[in-house]
Amino acid sequence: HAKAHDRGKCVLFKDDMRDKILNSIQMSSLLRTALDQNLFSLVYQPILELNTMTVSGVEALIRLNDSDGRPVSPMVFIPYAEQHGYISSISEWVIKTAAQQTSDWRRLGFDNLRMSINLSGKCLTNSAVVNTLQKYVKACRLKPEAFDLEITETAIIEDLDLSLNILDELKALGFSISLDDFGSGYSSLTYLNKLPIDTLKIDREFISQIQNEEDELHLLSAIINLAHQLGLRVLAEGVETETQLNYLIRQGCDLAQGYYFCKPVPSEEAERFIASRGFNAAEEISVENIR
Ligand code: C2E
Ligand code: MG
Ligand code: MG
Ligand code: MG
Repeated sequence: HAKAHDRGKCVLFKDDMRDKILNSIQMSSLLRTALDQNLFSLVYQPILELNTMTVSGVEALIRLNDSDGRPVSPMVFIPYAEQHGYISSISEWVIKTAAQQTSDWRRLGFDNLRMSINLSGKCLTNSAVVNTLQKYVKACRLKPEAFDLEITETAIIEDLDLSLNILDELKALGFSISLDDFGSGYSSLTYLNKLPIDTLKIDREFISQIQNEEDELHLLSAIINLAHQLGLRVLAEGVETETQLNYLIRQGCDLAQGYYFCKPVPSEEAERFIASRGFNAAEEISVENIR
């Protein structure tokens, strides 16, 4: 019995190893092919201004299918790309594509629509990202103000001084900066003061804790108040219910995005959503009127 058991274990272990190697080779080849043949795509999730319930911008999120047409999550391939030397090429593709889309939308008349781009932490340890951003902003005749760069804390902590320099430079050029996924993992209050950020994006995990409108989520309230005292705007990510939305409005949250409003969608669908909700509204539309 013991032998059979051990043998079983051994086989399992070997299979595990083979899977891992195959996965890594497949992943490398998938990413290389995707870069060569332009197989990545971007979807866009609208971000709403809660004062007016109009669209203030969209977040660009990358998509990739494997050779069988099944989606591979960016939560899987982005970390792989960071570790295996593909991230700067992928980032450049994202920046280029998002800038082109922003410029197309400007031509359609979506004037002040802001494009949010997720910047991998690896990018913040190399000043090349500053040139890449400037290059495509100029090529598309846009201003850095049209872009919001989403960064995460874990990314910055790797090389704080260098990341801070790069972020200060981007901020000085006119890009706005958001701290993504705040409240997940090892959030540290000290960074809030050190980083040149404009917006705090509260992690979906926090928002999902809002179950009833009478709930009292003291930590969430405290984060919103603290952000406001530091002069930051607050964006709630992953808003899925009306209850969560109403709660956030009462807490004075500034911006929100989530399935409740719109999933991340291809550009034409995002366009329809933006046109129907309105963007950068000249007059203030009250929440009651629109809902
Ligand atoms: P993130 O930047 O925090 O993006 C938010 C994620 O939450 C997205 O997942 C989005 O589809 C999802 N989401 C939005 N609203 C809701 C909601 O109401 N409910 C739920 N359950 N989920 C919602 P996605 O697109 O799978 O992206 C996952 C992560 O991958 C992103 O997290 C970001 O860290 C990374 N990522 C995505 N696109 C890029 C990119 O172009 N470059 C880089 N460097 N990272 C990216
Ligand atoms: Mg993000
Ligand atoms: Mg996030
Ligand atoms: Mg996230």
